[in-house]
Amino acid sequence: MMKTSTLATRLEQDVRELCLPEGRIVGTPGHAVAEAWVARRLGEIDCQPYCGDSFALPYHRDGKDFTNFAGVIPGEDRSLPPVLIGAHYDSFIPHPCADDNGAAVAITLAVGEAVAGSGGLERDLIVAIFDAEEPPHFQMATMGSNRFYEDQLDGRGVHFALISDLVGHDVSLPASALGGLAAKAAAPIAPLTFATGVESHPELPGIMGGLQVPDGMKLVATLNDYVGDMSDHGAFRRNGVPYLFLSCGHWEHYHRPTDTPDRLNYQKMAAIARYAESVCRAAAAATLPEFPAQEDTLDFERATWKKALGVLRKPLAKALGVSGFDSREDIDRAASMLQRLGL
Ligand SMILES: [Zn+2]
Repeated sequence: MMKTSTLATRLEQDVRELCLPEGRIVGTPGHAVAEAWVARRLGEIDCQPYCGDSFALPYHRDGKDFTNFAGVIPGEDRSLPPVLIGAHYDSFIPHPCADDNGAAVAITLAVGEAVAGSGGLERDLIVAIFDAEEPPHFQMATMGSNRFYEDQLDGRGVHFALISDLVGHDVSLPASALGGLAAKAAAPIAPLTFATGVESHPELPGIMGGLQVPDGMKLVATLNDYVGDMSDHGAFRRNGVPYLFLSCGHWEHYHRPTDTPDRLNYQKMAAIARYAESVCRAAAAATLPEFPAQEDTLDFERATWKKALGVLRKPLAKALGVSGFDSREDIDRAASMLQRLGL
């Protein structure tokens, strides 16, 4: 992957080009502009069409027209089920919606570009840019990732899926709930990046545990059950596909006109892009055989909380009303408290 400053500049350029003032609501002129942009960028990063001769995968549902996009970077063994990296490009309101979800689209394209530039993975990499993730389509039959999984996926299926959403911003804790700790913790908390889905395959904790987390982000793993299917990984999770979902959680600009490109942290995004690339590489190289029962990932989760929070562990535990971040009960409670605080 390119050097961090170049990567951050590229990510910012993509966010600024995609996240225009009119937004990208399905069926609007802004959405049509976004469609053309996504198709052009997939070509520029050296993807081939996933299916047929176009990146666009249109579908019609409930009287409306939608368009998913998918490119592929050919891998060594093209008969194997591919790894998929994906993010949605539509917006909830007629505003830039940069963190939701321009940031993740830019990161997804950057990973595709890096993989293409290095000659590909052990298997194909699908670069999927989904339509219609936002309400009223969220978790409905019209949702782009649902239609992709059920109608547009080829017979090889998906080996592993990496989905991201809301990955452009610094994490902050509300001063109202945490008093002085919120200010004191601001700098160490900002790089937090949450991951769910490590529990989706027994080999994932070992694979993820072996990856270096780049400077500029701090990984915190939790169970998807805590937060539910917040984004496009639901279609994969429900179908038993091993997956990882990356997110910096909700913030004060979520679904608001103020979610603009100037508020994102492009250095943090560059770190997340690097991490996402290493996850895709490791997943592509792993066999991930079918497994009988759900794995308990407590050890891996505990290690990420410990490393990410550092000296803040004690004061934050106290503020959240837990004795630490070691037992299933405490992590469960801390995750739900953080969610109640708006993350
Ligand atoms: Zn949204």
